[in-house]
This record gives sequence, structure tokens and C-alpha cells, in this order.
Amino acid sequence: MMRFTMSQQTPGSTTAQALQRDAFENLSQENRKFAPSPEFAANAVVTAADYAEADADRPAFWAKQARELLSWSKDFSQALDWSTPPFAKWFVGGEVNAAYNALDRHVENGHGDRVAIYFEGEPGDTRTYTYAQLTEEVKKAANAFESLGVAKGDRVAVYLPMIPEAVITLLACARIGAIHSVVFGGFSAEALRSRIDDAEAKLVVTADGTYRRGKPSALKSAVDEALSHEGNGSGHTVQNVVVVKRNGQDVDWHDGRDHWWADTVGTASAEHAAVGHDSEHPLFILYTSGTTGTPKGILHTTGGYLTQTAYTHKAVFDLHPETDVYWCTADVGWITGHSYVAYAPLINGATQVMYEGTPDSPHQGRWWEIVEKYKVSILYTAPTAIRTFMKWGKEIPAKSDLSSIRVLGSVGEPINPEAWMWYREVIGGNAGKNGERKETPAPIVDTWWQTETGAQMIAPLPGVTATKPGSAQVPLPGIAVDVVDEAGESVPNGSGGYLVIREPWPAMLRGIWGDPERFKETYWSRFETMYFAGDGAKKDEDGDIWLLGRVDDVMNISGHRLSTAEIESALVSHPAVAEAAVVGAADETTGQAVVAFVILRGDAVDTGDAIVQELRNHVGKEIGPIAKPRTILVVPELPKTRSGKIMRRLLKDVAEGREVGDATTLADNTVMAQIAQSLRK
Ligand code: ATP
Ligand code: MG
Repeated sequence: MMRFTMSQQTPGSTTAQALQRDAFENLSQENRKFAPSPEFAANAVVTAADYAEADADRPAFWAKQARELLSWSKDFSQALDWSTPPFAKWFVGGEVNAAYNALDRHVENGHGDRVAIYFEGEPGDTRTYTYAQLTEEVKKAANAFESLGVAKGDRVAVYLPMIPEAVITLLACARIGAIHSVVFGGFSAEALRSRIDDAEAKLVVTADGTYRRGKPSALKSAVDEALSHEGNGSGHTVQNVVVVKRNGQDVDWHDGRDHWWADTVGTASAEHAAVGHDSEHPLFILYTSGTTGTPKGILHTTGGYLTQTAYTHKAVFDLHPETDVYWCTADVGWITGHSYVAYAPLINGATQVMYEGTPDSPHQGRWWEIVEKYKVSILYTAPTAIRTFMKWGKEIPAKSDLSSIRVLGSVGEPINPEAWMWYREVIGGNAGKNGERKETPAPIVDTWWQTETGAQMIAPLPGVTATKPGSAQVPLPGIAVDVVDEAGESVPNGSGGYLVIREPWPAMLRGIWGDPERFKETYWSRFETMYFAGDGAKKDEDGDIWLLGRVDDVMNISGHRLSTAEIESALVSHPAVAEAAVVGAADETTGQAVVAFVILRGDAVDTGDAIVQELRNHVGKEIGPIAKPRTILVVPELPKTRSGKIMRRLLKDVAEGREVGDATTLADNTVMAQIAQSLRK
């Protein structure tokens, strides 16, 4: 079980010192460790040698990866140009085409018949694309977009569900050098409009609609609404809209502007030569989740991004492209759906599964049926999904044969040790639908990264690292991550502080679209020569890194600083709790008070005050009396972004009795009303 230690304020120490110390001593001490099995280690594609090689010469290590993992139409002359920080240039002078690397070259190398995508629609329809077929579709889309006047450097807004056309559109843009800007299909017309305007998009690619929980759900109508706006009076920049027919629902039509995918892409030529683009040519803009504030248009470029996404995808998931079946459940509207669905798996020649719908459609075992059907061997998902499955109960995945799984990934939020263990035992340990167990469950890789980092930064290597439940642990080879104090000094093992990145990395953002000053101010002003990620972290006694959540979310209770992640993990470790979100609400006596929102597990009974008291005591026992929530509210749902992150700022508004702030990036916009209603009862 988890053991928490609690530090008390030492008499005589100044408040400032106490604050800094307390913040990060109040952490869970998780002692379990799981070493890779000897067979796994013996067959791993990446070994510990990569750490040493990268440490010896970082840019040289990445240059080697760039040349091994990508085919360059023109070789680069310099690995890294860091002469004008914080603006990095990687693989200077090189030319590379992302789509050629993801597609054509695999066909040229004799892998045209390998499956690139197994698509599973929510209603149960399926499509399979080989590398040869996907290459052809992307060439047609490239020709179609060019015929609609899209040229290199133009922006294309993408508002699509999780269907193969989303990947085809992204790669077609990359092929011709157009810059894609994906807007999550669950966002409102208003959110779409502001992103179209910010990027001055020339083309929008959308669908009539999609399916959500068995019902049709419209998309095109939001595009129409977004484009009907006159904005600031100057109108919008969109000339054409390409519409995929997906669910067949009725749509309004604007002649001249709107074109069916089948009539444009479907009829275009399948001949299209890919030319190399400069390594620093912009590849895409993607807006962050808006968990902490207004979304930022993060800009990524080509050569460095492709190199680091491909390397990490191979190393962290131990990818064997000839035999693995990989499934990343992220929507393409999130950075994970860019890096680890649209780009890296295809660059690496992998076979992947793509699923359109929700995990509970038509029933709560849908994902596990998909794993069994396609023999998924690598599964990459988010803690929010894992906690949802915990809530639904372990009997559901037990009905499917999950024996094909050999690596499990997590991304998006800190994964609570309790959820980590469940993921390992229930999913990674399943060796058949009759309750058979694996001798050694599949290893879990918890991957820390951000929209801004473009690719994974901190994660175990499954054939090398002995993993610890709840910790992302080690910076990847070639990545210089550190935890520092207020003054920017590296903290010793056993202490916590701010997570920073000390050296430029290939997939780093190149800026915020149209706003170089905001880029400097947001990431490079807190510590002048280091990138500040906005997250708090701790180094344990082994030097392994534990993520603590946003520094903005750290609470100050009677002079003790407590992290939200820590109290949430304590709550989730109680058998009745499926999910928890903790915020610090203003309190007259203690400065801030802990307010917790919890979702109970499917089989737990809401006993009202009794359960609340029990949970308060549980937190007191696990962490210490100071961490006991002042208020615990049992709610049906938590507000989350599309990537499954809890939007604590909205809960803080509730806890402090304010009107709820900007909720436009919520995945489900009815959640705040559901919470309000449940609290009125
Ligand atoms: P915004 O920056 O607009 O507030 P966001 O930070 O939620 O939005 P993303 O870039 O999708 O948008 O999220 C990155 C953040 O997610 C990280 O800074 C971190 O807080 C969290 N995160 C991602 N992966 C992990 C992980 N494995 N462990 C802990 N936290 C993680
Ligand atoms: Mg962020």
C-alpha cells in the first residue's frame, strides 16, 4: 500500500522556507517496483546504451536518429542552431517530406501490403487501409487541396471526427507544405471560429457529422455557423469547405464554397510527387487544452518534430513494426492524436487501430472487444479512461481476451498509483477470457509531455527501467529535464520544485502562432535560460521524477503547500472512489481549504454524510490531518477537456460560489450543469 509522509513546519524556520519545503515533502512514498522480464529486456529495440550515447553528445545523438528514422531529400549540415534562443533550428539546411516518410517510402521498400490503419466506426462499420492504399488516398487529397487553391504555407482548418480522412487530410497538408490546424470535433462553432480567424485558414475540412453514443452528432452545421460570422467586420479568410459524408445527416449547402470529399478528393489524380520541405518549415498549429487559461496556438515545424516523435514512439513502446498492432485512443484534436496517431506510427511503418466512438458504445466492453478483435499489442490511453474503467468494474474487461497486449501507455495527467496498479493487473495481466493470468503483466509506460514539447519527454523505457506506479520517472535519452527551486537551482533527490527543460529538444515548439512575445513570456521568463513547463515535480530518493500537477493548482493550507495530485491519489485509493478532483478554495481561517469533488465507483453506495466522513478520515490517514478536505462533494461527472484533463479552474469557481468561467474547451458542455444540479439536491 501507499505510504505517505507528512512534514510539519519546523519551529523557527521562516514561512518562505517552510512553504518551499512543505510543498514537496508531503508526497506519497510509493515503494513498489516492477523490473522488465528477462525476455522483454532481451528483445527490446532500445537499450540503456542510448542514454550514454545521448549524454555524450546530445545534438549528435539526435542527428543520428534523424538520419536513421527519416529519409531526407536533402541532408542537413548542422544538427542544432541555438544561436538565437529561445528560437531553435534543428537539422539546418535539410529537406524532408513528412507524407513521403509516412507513406511512399514504405511502399517503395516493399511494405505496400502492410496494414497501416484498421478503422472501426462507432456503429460497427470497418475499413482497412494498407500502406499502398493510404498513400494513394493522400496523393489524391493533396491534388484536390491544391486544385482548391491551397499552396505551401497556407493554413487548413480541420474539424473532423476520428475517421481515416482525418489522418489523410493531415498528411495531404504536410505533403504540399500547407499548415494544418485541427480543432476538436466536440468544440463549439465559436471555438472553431476563433481558431479559424487566428490562423487565417483558407480551407476547412469537415464531415456532415459523426456518431456519439449511438446517435448522430452534427459537425458541418458548426462550420456553417462559424463562417457566417463577420468577425471584426473584415470577414473570414475561408474560400472552400470540403465535407466528408460520414453519417449521412442533412446539411445546408453553400454552392461554390462547399464540396463533397467524394467529388473532389475522390475524383482527383492518384499521382502526386512529394517534394522536400525545409526542416524548419511549419507543419502545424495546435491550440492547447486551455486547462489553465486561454488556449495558445502552438507552432511545430517538420524535421525535429518528426525525428523525436518517431524515436520516442519506437523506444517508449518498444515498437516492432512487423508484428505489433498499436492503438492510441487519443482524438486527432489533441497533440497525442497528432504525434502518436497521424505521424509517428506511420513514419515507423506500424499497423494501428483507429476507433471513432466512445468507450461505452454500444456497451462498456467496446474497447476490450476491439483489443481482442485486432490483437492489439500496444495500447496508449489516458488516466481518465483507466479510472472510468475502474468505475465500471473489472468484470467488463475480463470478458475479453487481452493476451495480445504487451505494452501499456498512459498520458495526459498524473496517473494515480491505484489506477496504475489496476491498469497493470486487470488489463496488462489478462491472458484470456476465462480468467487466465499472465506470469508477468505487461509493463506500463507513463509518458509526460505537452502540446508544447511535441513529443514524449519523460517516460520509462519498458525493456530497461524498473517501473514505479505513479511516476513517469526518467527523461528520455537526449532530453535534459530537471527539477529546480525558486532560484533555478537543481533540487537534491527527495525534494520537489518546478519542472524545467535545460536544453533545446528536436520537437520543441517554435513559437506561439503570430505572437513571439507571448512565447518568450510564457515559457522563458520564469527561468531565463530554461524552458518552464508550468508543472510541479519531485525527485524521489532514486532521482526518479514524480509529476505533481500544475504549479497554479498547488494549494496553501494554513501555510502548508499541498499538491492536488497527491490528495486526489489518496481519495482514489479508497475502494468507493472512482475519480477525484481537488481544488483550493478561499477560506477565512486557513487561507485556502481543500474542496474535493468525487465520483463514486459503480458498485459503491452513496451513504451521504457517512461516506464523506469516511473519505475525510481516509485522506487524513494517508497524508495527514492537514490534508483532510473541508468539503467533499459527490458528483456524477467532472469537467474535462477533450484530452481527459480535469478543468480545476471551473471547479474552483463552483467551490468559491462564483459564476463558472470559460468552459468552451470542455469535451462535454453539459457537465457543469449536471454538477450544479447534483449539488442542489
Ligand atoms: P493549457 O496549457 O492551455 O492550460 P494543457 O496544458 O492542459 O492546456 P496539454 O498540452 O494537452 O494542454 O497538456 C499538457 C499537460 O498535461 C502537462 O503540462 C501536464 O500538466 C499534463 N500531463 C501530460 N502528461 C502527463 C503525465 N504523464 N503525468 C502528469 N501530467 C501529465
Ligand atoms: Mg499547458
